[in-house]
Amino acid sequence: MTDSHHPTLPSLPGTDWPRMEPGWVWLCGAGPGDPGLLTLHALNALQQADVVIYDALVQDCILDWAPQARHIYAGKRGGKPSAKQRDISLQLVDLARDGLRVLRLKGGDPFVFGRGGEEAQTLVQHGVPIRIIPGISAGIGGLAYAGIPVTHRDVNQSVTFVTGHDQSGHTPSSLNWQAIAQGSQVIVIYMGMKHAGQISAALLDAGRPVDEPCAVVSSATTPDQRVLETTLGRLAADIETSGFEPPAILCIGRSVLMRQVLDWQGMLAGAAPRDLDPLGRGLPAETACGG
Ligand code: SAH
Repeated sequence: MTDSHHPTLPSLPGTDWPRMEPGWVWLCGAGPGDPGLLTLHALNALQQADVVIYDALVQDCILDWAPQARHIYAGKRGGKPSAKQRDISLQLVDLARDGLRVLRLKGGDPFVFGRGGEEAQTLVQHGVPIRIIPGISAGIGGLAYAGIPVTHRDVNQSVTFVTGHDQSGHTPSSLNWQAIAQGSQVIVIYMGMKHAGQISAALLDAGRPVDEPCAVVSSATTPDQRVLETTLGRLAADIETSGFEPPAILCIGRSVLMRQVLDWQGMLAGAAPRDLDPLGRGLPAETACGG
């Protein structure tokens, strides 16, 4: 293999990294945006690929780490209709059959609301060998960048990840919102901006409190990250006035309150934590007594 390593590329720690062979497709998560959230397997793949076929949510700077590769955009941008899923899958098959090392790079984790399963299945059905590289999903890592722990012992013992869109582009009518509302203290919604009104109405109908804390995190982990804190009752109206654009993650549940103490990006910028004990748990003894 010719050495495709670029001198300015970060080098990998010494271990036995898998080699990308011609004719293979690696289906890889790129994380939510910040290139620092790529995995080392993703970096290893970027350094070896002949072609990178990437989605709208993949930041351009990540592609800079594959300067030797051809970059093919497969996704939706500027309101243009998205490339058809079947076409993308078959394009992957063709590229592999051309004997290329194909890196299919998708935002977040390829198997979380990303149709990675469909693409991988098509590849296997066509006899193309694959490797899967998971990534940090926006619904976990994106919330962490906003200072929201997706689980917290005092708040939730379960979390439900929901897509706000089904294949027809409507709120998923197949979802049992009643069951979700009752069964999961924290609900994380992908692709939920457009239907936030319908979703919050369904959850309120199912008995979730109108003042339940909610957050919207848009362009999480990128320099454009914005965070809106609101309540379930005001979610849709506040999204409307905020001017927030997708991609955005919605989080519904009391874990959102933890942002008052864990907004580490705000603290980096010099802000003080708003409340050291937002869940009313009591401060640690040494602080309480120590004066
Ligand atoms: N596979 C991806 C999700 C793809 S679905 C993952 O695991 O994260 C696309 C949706 O993901 C967006 O509509 C949005 O809800 C969410 N998303 C992806 N990247 C995001 C980001 N940087 N900030 C906020 N939401 C994001």
